[in-house]
Amino acid sequence: MPFRESDRLKALPPYLFVDIDRRRRAAIAAGKDVINFGVGDPDQPTHAFIIDRMARAIRDPALHRYPFDQGSPAFRRQVAAFFQRRYGVDLDPDREILTLIGSKEGIGHLPLAIVNPGQTVLIPDPGYPVYRAGTIFAGGTPWTMRLCERNGWLPDLAAIPSDVARQAVLMFLNYPNNPTGATASRHFYARAVAFAREHDLIIAQDAAYNELYLTDQRPPSILEIPGAKDVAIEFHSLSKTFNMTGWRLGFAAGHPGVLAALGRVKSNLDSGAFTAIQEAGGAAYAGSDRPEIEHMRALYRARSEVLCEGLRAAGFRVTPPQATFYIWAGVPHGHDSMQVAHKLLEEAFIVCIPGIGFGEAGEGYVRFALTVDVDRTREAMQRLRGLTW
Ligand code: PLP
Repeated sequence: MPFRESDRLKALPPYLFVDIDRRRRAAIAAGKDVINFGVGDPDQPTHAFIIDRMARAIRDPALHRYPFDQGSPAFRRQVAAFFQRRYGVDLDPDREILTLIGSKEGIGHLPLAIVNPGQTVLIPDPGYPVYRAGTIFAGGTPWTMRLCERNGWLPDLAAIPSDVARQAVLMFLNYPNNPTGATASRHFYARAVAFAREHDLIIAQDAAYNELYLTDQRPPSILEIPGAKDVAIEFHSLSKTFNMTGWRLGFAAGHPGVLAALGRVKSNLDSGAFTAIQEAGGAAYAGSDRPEIEHMRALYRARSEVLCEGLRAAGFRVTPPQATFYIWAGVPHGHDSMQVAHKLLEEAFIVCIPGIGFGEAGEGYVRFALTVDVDRTREAMQRLRGLTW
């Protein structure tokens, strides 16, 4: 049967990583020793204390049934305790926390809950592609907030034209930021909350990397700002915090009405995260200050040092990230990000992601994920040193 893709799918931007991935597979097929800094997927296993809790949970038949719509009460209670401990923010587990099947699921579905066709959504560029895709799926109109290094990769809220701000119903923020590694201060969040109040829009702050801080400055939550719960929700993820990308678990916290609307979308499309996984997720948050989590951050710090030094020696411009496990490197002068990614793959068998894949403002940069061990990272940097530009 012939079929045609929906206009919705056709409206998505082209997936620019396909080409790099094809070249990566071709290099491997040709027997090359490829070192992959491409994917943002931790190379370390899920922490043992979480697996132990899962092993017990999976044997409990009470947990085999359909999950609760908002998520398991035990998980949401642990999240509330974590939020109080980490940020000093009180959350009502029944109204202000919603379990997600990974934060991507909630980010992608949110526009269906609060954006009408034709309404404007403010989206960062460079940025995680799901903000745009979710907006397009809901029929919303993305409006790009161009981020730049000079501005610490924060959007210039004052530069958003007043007619755009008036029409906007939702603004996505993402700090700590993928791909740039930048963080936002409480001062910035306070300005964003005031902007949302003034223009009557909702902020969705994506905090998927809040626990991957690489300096002694822990990133704040936007919900620390007084009154933030009136205008904002924040997405959190267990994926990178606890090496649980495959488990699919996250949550949103904040504005109870927005969470209820998102919950209604979800209850019509999915039936929630497996309750046994939520039990394990509760154990993860209960153990969020365990030494193995700090050990993981130390591992990323060590890799970051090797990578930053090696990239600088090879002619890249690098600022060490404050958080996330990404190095966002300015490419050697006179080249664009796609050319550099191709050259690295073809001449040094190193995979990185061209910045243009995160939006036009990502041009001139490439992203390296810190998911390769220190020895292999050193080897990659040695290969880079041999390249001529
Ligand atoms: N937000 C950002 C900025 C990300 O980079 C990712 C994953 O890479 C996600 C959200 C989604 O994470 P998950 O769905 O695994 O919670």
